[in-house]
Amino acid sequence: MEVLLADEFGFCFGVERAVEMVEDALQEGATVRSLGALIHNTQEMKRLEAEGVRTINAPEEASQDVTAVIRAHGVTPMVQLELESRAARVIDATCPFVTKVQKLAERAAAQGRDVVVAGNPDHPEMIGVVGYAPNNTYVVRDATEVANLPQLHAPIVLSQTTIKLQTFQEVAEAVRAKADAEPQVINTICSATRDRQDAARALAGHVDAFYIIGGRHSSNSVKLLAVCKEQCEKSFLVETADEINPADLENVERVGVTAGASTPNWLINQVVERLRELGREKEAVVA
Ligand code: SF4
Repeated sequence: MEVLLADEFGFCFGVERAVEMVEDALQEGATVRSLGALIHNTQEMKRLEAEGVRTINAPEEASQDVTAVIRAHGVTPMVQLELESRAARVIDATCPFVTKVQKLAERAAAQGRDVVVAGNPDHPEMIGVVGYAPNNTYVVRDATEVANLPQLHAPIVLSQTTIKLQTFQEVAEAVRAKADAEPQVINTICSATRDRQDAARALAGHVDAFYIIGGRHSSNSVKLLAVCKEQCEKSFLVETADEINPADLENVERVGVTAGASTPNWLINQVVERLRELGREKEAVVA
């Protein structure tokens, strides 16, 4: 049985960078506290907890003996300042793609312009961005919500890093009708999610079964499952190697593997190794 990995899988750049920054701090002997869960993967969180990393829910929970970490989603400047005043040191692991959205919003607002961001207003990334331009920023889920906005002055249109391109384009179009000048439209969608989906789609038609490794609550992993199922009926979302049911591999000659953007390599390796082991067992039975 052949095990084939998709061309793009696992940790995105921003998550890998955040985990590496935490690892570096741990190596220096720091007591690390992450403001909010560093990563949406239960197994990786447990591994980090075993190394001493704890999650705090508010800056007030930090103290002068800890190194506090701002995760990849970023936070508002107010929260960052508060954290800096409480903790011994702050590691800013905001993904540079998110920082770009924050800075664009801040600069446009400083020029007195309105900022429209296509995204989910309740998502931590969007809460952070609004904090950089609190008086001028409108976060809209889709184009229909633009109708409820007041007239917009020289607006800039941006996107949450993980939204669909079509939603962003529709929002930009709707803003045009509400603006007193041609809007500046800057696509700030990050390609990590789309790249993983494209790679899974390219492989799904060539395998008999597909394993997607990721948290059941991880939206990008659930989306990967849906993408694989379009072409490969036997597609399974698993969190760990233990969840593979050998019976699902009957009559399977080629298995595809991919993983969500929060799935660490060590977990992926365990699943791949288990699949190879099951493949060897099948061959032994046939022989
Ligand atoms: S999905 Fe993209 S924007 Fe978000 S953390 Fe990963 S690389 Fe950064």
